[in-house]
Amino acid sequence: MSALTMTIDGKAERAEASLDVINPATGEVFAQAPDCSRAQLDAAMESAEAAFRRWRGDEAARRRALLACAEALRAAAPEAGRLLTREQGKPLAKAVGEFIGASVWFKTTAGLEIPVEVVQDDEKTRIEVRRRPLGVVGAITPWNFPVLLAVWKIAPALLAGNTVVMKPSPYTPFSTLRLGEILRDVLPPGVLNVVSGGDALGAWITEHPAVRKISFTGSVATGKRVAAAAAPDLKRVTLELGGNDAAIVLPDADPAAIADDLFWGAFENSGQICSAIKRVYVPESHFATLRDELARRAKSVVMGDGLAEGTQLGPINNRPQLERVCELVEDARKAGAAFAAGGSPRPGGGYFFEPTIVTDVAEGVRLVDEEQFGPALPLLPYREVDEAVERANATRFGLSGSVWSSDPSRAAEVAGRLEVGTAWVNQHVAIVPHAPFGGAKWSGIGVENGPWGLLGFTEIQTVNVRKA
Ligand code: NAD
Repeated sequence: MSALTMTIDGKAERAEASLDVINPATGEVFAQAPDCSRAQLDAAMESAEAAFRRWRGDEAARRRALLACAEALRAAAPEAGRLLTREQGKPLAKAVGEFIGASVWFKTTAGLEIPVEVVQDDEKTRIEVRRRPLGVVGAITPWNFPVLLAVWKIAPALLAGNTVVMKPSPYTPFSTLRLGEILRDVLPPGVLNVVSGGDALGAWITEHPAVRKISFTGSVATGKRVAAAAAPDLKRVTLELGGNDAAIVLPDADPAAIADDLFWGAFENSGQICSAIKRVYVPESHFATLRDELARRAKSVVMGDGLAEGTQLGPINNRPQLERVCELVEDARKAGAAFAAGGSPRPGGGYFFEPTIVTDVAEGVRLVDEEQFGPALPLLPYREVDEAVERANATRFGLSGSVWSSDPSRAAEVAGRLEVGTAWVNQHVAIVPHAPFGGAKWSGIGVENGPWGLLGFTEIQTVNVRKA
């Protein structure tokens, strides 16, 4: 049994069953997390429904509570970060940074307005467009940024007046359970319930009659299941799903100058970022130089246990994901790929895969067409910019993309032609709390962050007053 508990109705809650949680740096089970029962989920939902009646009434109190959450998370970051590294694998500084980022998100969200718009106001009529909370929000997250992605949901949902039942991935339950414990002391009972369990628990949440909105981050395949489960009850959904982000290097870019940012745009968190660079389009003239620059970095980056001093890249989070990366790289090898760096899992314990730079592949090879979500990056030569844009867009994914150039305004024009939710210039994965983030096409429905994300946790009420 884990020492960490679920949070239901403001109280610590253990479970009869448990889940093994593995440290991906060793491949060994290091602790057990509670496996929430259906009765416990019902209790969490009941508590969230009851808390909603009170919580929705006092906006100023909610803002104060969000600021208190921000402070509590900042204070707990050094201790809680260790837990995140053990279950997720990322370097400790990044894990601590994730808790601090979550604190920043709470603080920024606390300052957002819930707008009341007046669309008519004359002698006869006043029409206001108001925003009402929805009720209980079911929040479901993946294993790559368990804490930050949870807070992207919790903070705006709570500010808008909703209450939350939160479920992390079974691969990384502890950091979110810890989040629940920290915020248990700050928030009124029932406002935030945190339960842990397997995929079935996620499905129970999406089907639960108490839930009025599902905010889901995860894969496209699961996102479609969530949307289907929400449909019979017309639950609102926000879906933040996978991507296959292209970076397009323009002919006027300097390969040596951009190589660092391109490398980290692809390999940060060992490639396990929804909006990481997952393929790079490179002009033929720059191909060899950029390949060599990226390969040099891939060969020298320090990969290891996230708790060890100096580690820059951790392991892949779980065995199925490691196997998926191996399978995609093997498939590329069979299709004639060459490897400027890496190409294999690292022998020994833990779920490590060498940082890998792949050439001699093209569309039609799975590593290029699918989301690898790991440290293996294909480089694709192109001749004309229009051709690169067309190839970047020839996918069902549409999360984000980037264009690299010494002329930012020219690059911004090209970036605007990408069919994606976020288009970056001379950077990638630059996500901030005050701008919306979401996917086009199969990469999602709706957005998170900023006022746009907040409104996703509300529904419109038009109040039309006849004065005379
Ligand atoms: P996943 O879809 O397997 O799981 C995500 C969550 O859904 C987990 O908590 C899981 O237990 C739960 N779940 C599984 N089956 C469910 C069901 N039928 N109903 C409800 N919940 C269910 O994804 P993953 O492997 O944990 O995460 C990796 C994926 O997440 C990648 O595709 C990545 O691109 C995507 N992602 C997207 C964003 C974004 O903001 N767009 C951010 C991070 C990750």
